[in-house]
Amino acid sequence: MGFPTLGWLDRIFLTWNILVAGKLLIALFGILVPVALAFAAAGHLVGNTWMVIALGATAFSLMGVNLVLAARLPGVDRLFSGLDQVYWVHKWLGISILVLAFNHQYFKVATDGLQVMQEISKLAITVAKYSFYTLLVLGLISFFKRVPKMPKITWEIPYGVWRQTHRLFGLVFLGIAFHQFFVKAPFDNNAFLATYLNFVALIGAAAFLYSQFGFLLRRRRFKVVSVDKHQTATIVDLVPTGRPLKVRPGSFAFVSFATKGLGEPHPFTVSQVRADGGIQFSIRGLGDYTRRLRDAIAVGDMARIEGGYGRFHHHRGGPRQIWVAAGIGVTPFLAWADHLKPTDAEQITMVYCMRNPEEGVALDRLRAAQERVPGFKLVLHCSDTDGRFDAAKLVSYLPFEPASASFWFCGPAPMRDALLKGMKSLGKSPASIHFERFEFR
Ligand SMILES: Cc1cc2nc3c(=O)[nH]c(=O)nc-3n(C[C@H](O)[C@H](O)[C@H](O)COP(=O)(O)OP(=O)(O)OC[C@H]3O[C@@H](n4cnc5c(N)ncnc54)[C@H](O)[C@@H]3O)c2cc1C
Repeated sequence: MGFPTLGWLDRIFLTWNILVAGKLLIALFGILVPVALAFAAAGHLVGNTWMVIALGATAFSLMGVNLVLAARLPGVDRLFSGLDQVYWVHKWLGISILVLAFNHQYFKVATDGLQVMQEISKLAITVAKYSFYTLLVLGLISFFKRVPKMPKITWEIPYGVWRQTHRLFGLVFLGIAFHQFFVKAPFDNNAFLATYLNFVALIGAAAFLYSQFGFLLRRRRFKVVSVDKHQTATIVDLVPTGRPLKVRPGSFAFVSFATKGLGEPHPFTVSQVRADGGIQFSIRGLGDYTRRLRDAIAVGDMARIEGGYGRFHHHRGGPRQIWVAAGIGVTPFLAWADHLKPTDAEQITMVYCMRNPEEGVALDRLRAAQERVPGFKLVLHCSDTDGRFDAAKLVSYLPFEPASASFWFCGPAPMRDALLKGMKSLGKSPASIHFERFEFR
């Protein structure tokens, strides 16, 4: 739609707001500790040796951190305000690791002064070399999820392929752990640095194992009890056949069905959480899987669901809240609106953007919430009749000053950026910003 994007300073500011405690831990364990220990172990050596060691130690420590982030460990998402944010950080750490590893590999530690190396040390160097090449190839596959902007080429690496290649990062980490353990380094093997890197190797390996098999502990079985093929979404209701899932309104889960062609887990926000343990997903056909699902899914089908994940919970949003939903981004807001009570003290204005009212998903539930809850105001912005949605329109819909409110958004990122930029230029920036990304890579 050609929305203007945020400047880099705005992005840094936004990122700073989002990462909360997680960024401090990453900076400490992924950067400061390895750099300080590298200096302590090798700072006395000539030339750039300690810097090259620091580059390698930092890359390896960040790889360990990244495996922990990828493992969906309980509690880790809290440090980052949600799993979608964890994956976002994971992606940018991955890119940083490639840069660090490239420099470590390129400059290399001078080995002239070392005694004759044992066979295992030579093997460790060879393993590191091939691990690095694999890292580079995997990194490029991950980074260029689609063929870079070329005319007429819109091919995208299928998510399934991307996910399988991503698993290999764990094996690369093990290769590099072997390298750091057995390579003849120009510093004392008893130095704190060696101990620290062994510790990172253990944590990273454990996180890798958990990321591959931990889902077995967390997934639950559900049965489809209704399927509603709405114009813009397939609305699927499910009930648990055993233990229910721990979800809150606003959580998301990974869903797969026993139905042919629907076995790969995909993330969807729970658009309704019922007291009997029943849940609902509202799924828009945006790609192969989600379009196939619309035709293939039927009442009685079995599903495996893993979750609930995410920290998109408006209860921490204060007394005045702005909710903006665009398209299928309405799903968390549906679950929230269902749970609003007449006694809730918050003043909430929800703007739901669509082209025309026929596109609106579960409008009856949103209207019912408006009837039931005095503090909840619903605004439907239909671009066919109301024109393009922008910051000025948003501000005009609000019965309070945005500066005193929290801003909750789910929809296309360019639209979010444009709204925030527009509000800022109007001098109406919200007090806090919260959003859910519908994309992990
Ligand atoms: C936290 C979160 C909540 C979401 N909630 C909803 C929702 O409530 N309703 C809804 O309609 N959509 C939701 N989505 C988007 C939905 O997951 C994708 O549209 C869907 O996975 C696309 O799959 P596809 O194979 O049909 O499309 P494809 O064209 O294959 O994929 C399109 C994009 O979807 C992502 N994707 C594809 N497969 C997977 C997978 N297995 N795991 C993770 N990401 C994948 C990738 O970024 C990919 O580039 C959500 C996404 C996230 C991350």
